Amino acid sequence: MFVVRVVLGNVFVCRKPTQFRKPPCTGAKCHRDDCMDQAHQPFFHSVLGTHKSDDVRLIFREFVVYEKSQAYPEFLVEYERQQ
Ligand SMILES: [Zn+2]
Repeated sequence: MFVVRVVLGNVFVCRKPTQFRKPPCTGAKCHRDDCMDQAHQPFFHSVLGTHKSDDVRLIFREFVVYEKSQAYPEFLVEYERQQ
């Protein structure tokens, strides 16, 4: 397992399953990753995907960055799972 320091910047929070090839634009109701509208600039820096499982006590969060310079792997932690 890697422990990673990540710079998220301006984060787009996504609450439904969506695939972005790059962060979406900041246009109020647009939020497309292929937006060409100059009025919607700049783009977000990262995406936070949230998903509630069937068990309402669990909320999964996935942080996505699109530039390798935004993430620094600080530690490699080796461990073994025990049954
Ligand atoms: Zn847009």
